[in-house]
Amino acid sequence: MRREPFPSWPVTAVTDRERLLEVFDSGKWWYGEKVKEFEEKYAAFHDARYGVTCANGTVALETALLACGIGAGDEVIVPPYTFMATASAVLKVNAVPVFADIELDTCNLDPADVEKKISCKTKAVLPVHLGGLPVDMDVFKALAKQHNLVLVEDACHSWGSKWKGKGTGAIGDCGVFSFQMSKNITAGEGGILLTDNEDIADRARSYTNCGRLKGGAWYEHYLLGSNLRMTELQAAILLGQLERLEEQTLRRERNAAYLSELLKDMPGISLMRQDPRVTRHSYHMYIFRFLPEEWSGVSRDRFLEALRSEGIPGSAGYNVPLYKNPLFQQKGEGPKHCPISCPYYGLEVDYSQVVCANAETISREGCWLPHPVLLAEERDMEDIAKAIRKIWEGRRELADV
Ligand SMILES: *Cc1c(COP(=O)(O)O)cnc(C)c1O
Repeated sequence: MRREPFPSWPVTAVTDRERLLEVFDSGKWWYGEKVKEFEEKYAAFHDARYGVTCANGTVALETALLACGIGAGDEVIVPPYTFMATASAVLKVNAVPVFADIELDTCNLDPADVEKKISCKTKAVLPVHLGGLPVDMDVFKALAKQHNLVLVEDACHSWGSKWKGKGTGAIGDCGVFSFQMSKNITAGEGGILLTDNEDIADRARSYTNCGRLKGGAWYEHYLLGSNLRMTELQAAILLGQLERLEEQTLRRERNAAYLSELLKDMPGISLMRQDPRVTRHSYHMYIFRFLPEEWSGVSRDRFLEALRSEGIPGSAGYNVPLYKNPLFQQKGEGPKHCPISCPYYGLEVDYSQVVCANAETISREGCWLPHPVLLAEERDMEDIAKAIRKIWEGRRELADV
């Protein structure tokens, strides 16, 4: 179908280079004005009062849980269709991740299944705005209030996404973002926690800055923190990235809407549900479902291989639910990780018994197009639709290969 590549990532500008060199030449590489400027600008961009930067999204999640008082013996409800950090961060603070299923038509945590998984030990729920599609924050906020749970947003795909006009991240108690290389705004690595709650912001700052307190002496340490600080060099790069984020997000949205229009009647696949309360969608990836029963024996992976041969960079994404990872299965003799086997928790956790049927289906049937594809032109979206149509039409031949 096509030979020209899609846009490459990251996108940079001459001004980014100038800003980076300005910091380099100043010799002030550490914990200064660029970090502060980025925190303020990013929080304002997301309609949040406070921003606390850190080294990456993984430690931002751990910091968020600690700052919200989550610890040993607590259960935190998480989706299994996400990056490992969503669940490993819970273990890292000695709490127990409890998996609830996702919805087939959004790939987001299903609030009805979350409700079923709530126990007397549940302290928090940690939904992911998967691919940048916000979860139903009205329902999750009501659920958190009713059961007295902390609501932390894993917003590591949802830079710029909005729910009913408000930026994701500080709609719940707090939320975290990643700036790792593959993300829609990046400095190679980096993370931030956003919140409207001053106490959470202060505790998060302390955890990321060696347990120091605001106004305290430099060698006085109050909390069991760590050094998770972002550098000035990272912040300089992120300031440039942030300048383009809104315009790029609008472009991804326009192209995604056009692509959905082209694909809506395509046989053999199904698209994600649209929700008018989602007023901005970052489209970290464009997700659709491959329906194997309609493809005369062509597998999802064979379909994706054909798609890539047509010049369209599709991938399978997360191809197992998190609980199938060896860490959770703990088969054989290897080391046992606390709190999966934990004297404080007082219960046996056996992840080999967990089944989230929809997450298993999406792991088998999900297809992802990466976000740089959506920075291309309208006619490039037409190539994607034509390639899928071509593969559909050749499905019987393909099944025999
Ligand atoms: C990338 C990502 C993280 C972790 O961010 P890092 O900066 O890579 O540590 C957490 N959750 C989700 C859903 C992610 O995609």
